[in-house]
Amino acid sequence: MKTLVIGGKSIPPGSSVSIDLPVALLHTHTPLTMPIHVRRSRRDGPTLFISAAIHGDELNGVEIIRRLHQEKSLSRLRGTLITIPIVNVYGVIEHSRYLPDRRDLNRSFPGSERGSLAGRLANLFMKEIVSNCTHGIDLHTGAIHRSNLPQLRVNLDDPETEHLARAFGTPVIINSDLRDGSLRQAASEHGIPMLLFESGEALRFDEMSIRAGVKGIISVMRTLQMLPKSRYRAKTEIEPLIARSSAWIRAPESGIFRTFSALGSRVTRGDVLGMIDSPFGDSEVEVVAPSAGLVIGKTSLPLINEGDALFHIAKFQAVKTVADNVEAYNETLAEIDEEDEIEEPPII
Ligand SMILES: [Zn+2]
Repeated sequence: MKTLVIGGKSIPPGSSVSIDLPVALLHTHTPLTMPIHVRRSRRDGPTLFISAAIHGDELNGVEIIRRLHQEKSLSRLRGTLITIPIVNVYGVIEHSRYLPDRRDLNRSFPGSERGSLAGRLANLFMKEIVSNCTHGIDLHTGAIHRSNLPQLRVNLDDPETEHLARAFGTPVIINSDLRDGSLRQAASEHGIPMLLFESGEALRFDEMSIRAGVKGIISVMRTLQMLPKSRYRAKTEIEPLIARSSAWIRAPESGIFRTFSALGSRVTRGDVLGMIDSPFGDSEVEVVAPSAGLVIGKTSLPLINEGDALFHIAKFQAVKTVADNVEAYNETLAEIDEEDEIEEPPII
């Protein structure tokens, strides 16, 4: 089996280690480190990284990784699992999406050793993590005051990526081109299939989003044969549907916003999705859906300026099927998972 070295530390098969990877010194000369956990089986298999908080205010992924670590089935792991719950350490400290140089880390990949602060952090992540891996999952949420339905953003031109995206099992997959400077783009240039999971909103924990993330990761690990197949058949098989395109509906006026459309709801053209009004209720303006689709993101702030993004609508060929799937999916997440019992002896 290949030797694995992270942060100058050699990690032999069959071991489980935490690493504090030195990132930089703060201006106070306080050392800043990135927490990394590596769990290696004695049995060969894929090396999967799971990263969160590349945007420092997107926290659901931090909790998804914590819960993943509690999964008993990890005792039967094949291959190597590398988890990085806090990539943008600077951003998490500041409750900010960005780095102190105001750059977006997810637009700074692959970075370079002599580049900007963001570029250096991106380069460190590529060198220490991505270059050691065969697959990756990056966990995100909506922006601040914006909530997302559980969804994957993936490049479906790659068959392996599509296979894993379907295994993750969110009802909605957005076929999204690779953005310049994203981790997804940099990983794909290394030939590493990568999924981007988006759910919930910044600076909040959302229980359904967290469950969806844990469930999706376990399912991908089973598909990669890193974990044994479940002995239970899924009660509801959800066939994910792929959005052809998506667009934001923006506020026609400024004012106080009331919404009638929940995440995951189906809209048809002409539906009134919300109202914008003055504080006295004497200048009501309707927010109307310009086309049919499914609400995959929405603002959670009732204070609106003209032009603000209100609803993110994904367009599907069969919107009704997607809406039904979202409902079935929510039911499966609401149930307590009974798939954790272990009969086989643990193998490390
Ligand atoms: Zn993000």
